[in-house]
Amino acid sequence: MAERKTGEAKNLDAIVVGGGLAGLYALHRLHRMGLRALILEAGRSIGGTWFWNRYPGARCDVESLEYSYSFSDELQQEWVWPERFAAQPDILRYINHVADRLALRPFILTDARVVSAVFDPGTDRWTVTTAGEVFQAPFCIMATGNLSLPRLPPFRGLESFKGNWYHSGLWPEEGVDFSGRRVGVIGTGSSGIQMIPIIAEQAGHLVVFQRTANFSVPAENRPITPELDRSHKERYRYWRDEARRTPFGIAGHPPPTRSALEDAPEQRARVYEEKWGTGGNISFLYAYNDLLVNRQANETAAEFVRNKIRSIVRDPKVAELLMPRDHPIGTKRLCLDNGYFETFNRDNVTLVDVRSDPIAEITPSGLRTRTRAFELDDIAFATGFDAMTGALLNIDISVDGGPRLGDKWAHGPRTYLGLMTAGFPNLFMITGPGSPSVKSNMIASIEQHVDWIADCLRHLGDKGLKGIEPDEGAESSWVEHVNAVADATLYPQANSWYNGANIAGKPRVFMPYVAGLDKYRKICDEVAANDYRGFSLKR
Ligand SMILES: Cc1cc2nc3c(=O)[nH]c(=O)nc-3n(C[C@H](O)[C@H](O)[C@H](O)COP(=O)(O)OP(=O)(O)OC[C@H]3O[C@@H](n4cnc5c(N)ncnc54)[C@H](O)[C@@H]3O)c2cc1C
Repeated sequence: MAERKTGEAKNLDAIVVGGGLAGLYALHRLHRMGLRALILEAGRSIGGTWFWNRYPGARCDVESLEYSYSFSDELQQEWVWPERFAAQPDILRYINHVADRLALRPFILTDARVVSAVFDPGTDRWTVTTAGEVFQAPFCIMATGNLSLPRLPPFRGLESFKGNWYHSGLWPEEGVDFSGRRVGVIGTGSSGIQMIPIIAEQAGHLVVFQRTANFSVPAENRPITPELDRSHKERYRYWRDEARRTPFGIAGHPPPTRSALEDAPEQRARVYEEKWGTGGNISFLYAYNDLLVNRQANETAAEFVRNKIRSIVRDPKVAELLMPRDHPIGTKRLCLDNGYFETFNRDNVTLVDVRSDPIAEITPSGLRTRTRAFELDDIAFATGFDAMTGALLNIDISVDGGPRLGDKWAHGPRTYLGLMTAGFPNLFMITGPGSPSVKSNMIASIEQHVDWIADCLRHLGDKGLKGIEPDEGAESSWVEHVNAVADATLYPQANSWYNGANIAGKPRVFMPYVAGLDKYRKICDEVAANDYRGFSLKR
């Protein structure tokens, strides 16, 4: 990886913070425009999510042929995905391949965590500081990720634990061997659900500490055959165009046209059974057109999954605990699994309900709930992230003599289009709060944002403009619109990381824009076509 540590302030056209899928594509686009740009990445290497999340079973839940860059036909033709849902090592390999193919490495500084970014309105420049270096540029692009600040709840006694502990989002690069060990997994969201079946196979005994039962549907993961690879690639352009016309940025799933309530129960069961067998979360949630807007319709899908859990898990008490009842299906990330519920039939797996019997403390030899003690050699925390705003607010972002982002967002993030925030000129966010982001195929969202930002910078350059900033009024209207769209759905009924409910004290604001990436793309294009409506451009 590049090492260009001169200690001097560097004059650049743009600074990109973050070397994941977003930062790398941003760097590539900026270079193609002839701009001098650099990535500052906190990690030892590039890859973002796919560098940090190396826990057993980590893989994408959007099919690999879709969850990949579409901007280069060469890239998409030459890369071969081995599985329907690629595993973390394959995605990381792909990202490294892209960085090499696009010759990006000399322009990436790793081990470079940005601690502050300050805008000087006098010179119209951002000064971006890492632990040891200072960089300057008129534009700063935050590609810091939506799920990149791991969250570790403040468990009493953790420092006293004599065993090893790990967080899913900071997993050791050398891997962990759980063979024969007594392991505790805390958390049963996406990461927990992915790692639990695999750790169970290795561990002597696995104790799963569950606070919230989550819905999960089978991945039906399988190898991609050479025939499928070939036939998909023959029509890649068509599939990508299709994906652009969908709300989630994912092709191959025709939008449903019927309400779940239009079908008789037997017919509905057949539809859900077919979706369950197909595998995949989009497929399942696309069974009917009202699953995310009508509670009664949603309940039919939720009850189908609960019945599946009843039929898979042999111990009825355990099955009951695993059945989600506190949120509509799909309003938290619908997990994809490979044998998750089956895992609880194993003799070496114990499920502990920490909602009724909360974790009191971590002890030197394990963990104690209010009523029981567990001896553990290892603890794996699958407790998620300070999502969507965490990594941004972890940087001290301010305007010299003006506002701090942390103060402005004290009651929740405010953005215009999830791309910029008023009062902070020339600061872009990729997949920021208020954009479809995590409610879409993230690579599709990343490409759309990067393309919009690159076109915007070209426009500013062509017109000899110094900067861009959203108007307060446009921002307020956008924030209201994002909320109104969410309020028309069932999403706000769940306590989830979509609305900050997973972090004590975090403001409860629904952050993703859920009208769909297709509609959102049109809005962004119209804004640009109308001379960047809602933005002020600086001469
Ligand atoms: C386990 C897991 C599975 C996922 N599966 C899917 C999926 O199937 N489909 C999907 O669409 N999305 C998925 N996601 C979401 C995933 O985050 C995105 O798809 C995508 O990888 C985001 O890329 P990014 O570049 O925006 O952010 P990231 O990949 O998070 O990269 C951000 C980078 O910024 C760096 N950074 C942050 N703060 C600083 C700082 N202060 N200074 C310097 N560098 C900094 C981080 O170290 C990180 O490398 C998943 C996420 C997780 C955690």
